[in-house]
Amino acid sequence: MSGTLTVCATPIGNLEDISARALEALRGADLIAAEDTRHTLGLLNHFDIRTPMISCHKDNEADRSDEILARLKEGKHVVLVSDAGTPAISDPGEILVRRCHEDGIRVTAVPGPCAFITALSMSGMPSRRFVFEGFLPASSKERAEVLARLRTEERTVILYEAPHRLRKTLEQLLEALGDRPAALARELTKVHEELLRMTLGEAVEYYRTTEPRGEYVLILGGADPGELTREQQARWENMSFTEHMQLYPDLPAKEAMKKVARDRGIPRREVYEALLKEKKTDGDGPSA
Ligand code: SAM
Repeated sequence: MSGTLTVCATPIGNLEDISARALEALRGADLIAAEDTRHTLGLLNHFDIRTPMISCHKDNEADRSDEILARLKEGKHVVLVSDAGTPAISDPGEILVRRCHEDGIRVTAVPGPCAFITALSMSGMPSRRFVFEGFLPASSKERAEVLARLRTEERTVILYEAPHRLRKTLEQLLEALGDRPAALARELTKVHEELLRMTLGEAVEYYRTTEPRGEYVLILGGADPGELTREQQARWENMSFTEHMQLYPDLPAKEAMKKVARDRGIPRREVYEALLKEKKTDGDGPSA
């Protein structure tokens, strides 16, 4: 009979946030798979837990998963922890968990601290619908793609960031998304816990003179759908009718004209006449 993998959340700063179930799981396991064994040793020592550990971090997770799966198949119970918060959330764990499911190993979880849920819940930002992006990609091309996508994201956007990259990230967010309401949470559950509620522009200004300290969760208001519509409208109105028609290359001319008319909020006949006028110089009128 195989053992069980328990995905176990640990504190994000304040050790008193460990749950009774987490302590029981860590104490009762045959093995703890830890992102950084030295870091987790601090937690184990604090609670006088002596369970053996094996490391499982982003650079060895794929290989280590084989070893951990072998132990699970021998019937051993393994607890997976990361340095802080919930494993597999911007942390190692996803590969091992997936491999367990593929091999029919039972997976369970001990829920607990997670930085972005903690920050969102205390931020006062719209929390019914949100998107968690974790850390923005390091490569500038991928980062630009994500930022472009986030420009039209209407749900609350949540990001993680380290202090030494905070200023640059805030500047890039302001440039890409425009000024938006924001909440910046740092040092959550610790002595210097702080939540700043300001706009992105104000945050950029604030951190020009204040040194960013501690790990951050950034929460940004989503795009305003009304503003997006107005921007889109303005973009269409700056196009010629011929260019606008080219946005719908797969539609028959009549259908494309209907679309253009709807986009611009004008009758289809006006589109037809405008196209006629534009095409006059080419000697080629629109077909409808
Ligand atoms: N698995 C973790 C979780 O469940 O939140 C996240 C791990 S990720 C490697 C680390 C990032 O989480 C930090 O850079 C920071 O953005 C955020 N974070 C972790 N602890 C935090 C805290 N106490 N206060 C604010 N942000 C924190």
